[in-house]
Amino acid sequence: MHNPGNLAQYTSFTELNTAAMPPSVILSMSHLMNTYTRLPVSFTHGEGVWLWDSNGKRYLDALSGIAVNTLGHAHPRLTAALTEQISKLIHVSNLYQINEQEAVADKLCTLANMQEVFLCNSGCEANEAAIKLARLYGHQQGIDNPAIIVMEKAFHGRTLATLSATGNRKVQAGFEPLVKGFVRVPYDDLDAIHQVAEHNHDVVAVLIEPIQGEGGIRTLDIHYLEQLRKICDQHNWLLMLDEVQCGIGRTGRWFAHQHAGILPDVMTLAKGVGSGIPVGACLAAGKAAGTFKPGNHGSTFGGNPLACVAVLTTLAIMEEDQLVAHAATVGEFLQQSLRTRLATVAGVVEIRGQGLIIGIELNRPCGELVKQALAQGLLINVTADNVIRLLPAMVFTSAEALQLLDKLCPLIIDFLAQGA
Ligand SMILES: *Cc1c(COP(=O)(O)O)cnc(C)c1O
Repeated sequence: MHNPGNLAQYTSFTELNTAAMPPSVILSMSHLMNTYTRLPVSFTHGEGVWLWDSNGKRYLDALSGIAVNTLGHAHPRLTAALTEQISKLIHVSNLYQINEQEAVADKLCTLANMQEVFLCNSGCEANEAAIKLARLYGHQQGIDNPAIIVMEKAFHGRTLATLSATGNRKVQAGFEPLVKGFVRVPYDDLDAIHQVAEHNHDVVAVLIEPIQGEGGIRTLDIHYLEQLRKICDQHNWLLMLDEVQCGIGRTGRWFAHQHAGILPDVMTLAKGVGSGIPVGACLAAGKAAGTFKPGNHGSTFGGNPLACVAVLTTLAIMEEDQLVAHAATVGEFLQQSLRTRLATVAGVVEIRGQGLIIGIELNRPCGELVKQALAQGLLINVTADNVIRLLPAMVFTSAEALQLLDKLCPLIIDFLAQGA
């Protein structure tokens, strides 16, 4: 696609020291669509939970590419497994049997106690599969206009169906008409679900994040999922859990819903499942299993051999190194330490989360903190305007957690003191 002129410009762009440039200058030179406000830093390599930028400066990564780099950066065993697979086969097509896919499906179903898996390449695709599955399930029951209950402040992705399911006007604005068939209720509110059940007989499923990620690391009351499971059973609805951000060991269990001791009918995964190789998965069980038949859904890339080896290796290392239990321990330490260090700080509203998905809600917008942390060699994120979000890799050690606390807590304290 590049003509020689563009290519020349592209090459020179990469040679420039963009770290020293104001974002407006970088933007005016870029041929990228303007979909992200990018921070003025670019990384050249990483090791474990550390990243180095093009100036040689080192950063502690407490975000892991938004819960993606499960094993940190450049994990030697993952690198070796991927390299070996690349030298054999990257892609063949789902027109053929792919043994690695069978192994991935087997493993995910064993861990989740579910029955079948559709493999794709991202979270929104996994949710698209779930939404299509729910609609097909509804039609199979004679419901012509199936509806799915979704939550306020939910995030399910950027495709048309998933942005319509998302509970954030900023994500939807300008992309109307939205996809129909979603009924929105407040998060963590069982009465609202009961009310919909009474009045809407087209409902076929509930789609919910066990912990809302983008929505501000919001957690559910411990009994909510238990009760929701019962309501779904009573009405023959599918309980569909979006574990794209909170799944794959992050909360200290393989899947966040396992803390509630329930089983979903459908669960979606992505982000951490391939430790950086793009992989998404939609799992089904019980009355949701067997819904799709050949021709109902598909993906060209989904579950190719390289992606599958990324999943198999990630899960194998997590098991061997007991990273799920480790996430629970380090996460607990992090949360407790944050509570202790920030206990008396005015402006800290709440510290919440589970395992290594942690939010620190402040009483004011705090996007500035991301840049201040960056300057200090620390990568964090702010979501929902005023929630500092920590999503470190599953290999994050207690020693690294201490370094994070030593950098982050003073930044928060200074930030809040300035505004007071
Ligand atoms: C990130 C995310 C998605 C979207 O995943 P993409 O891979 O960006 O499409 C969906 N649901 C949740 C809960 C997420 O955190």
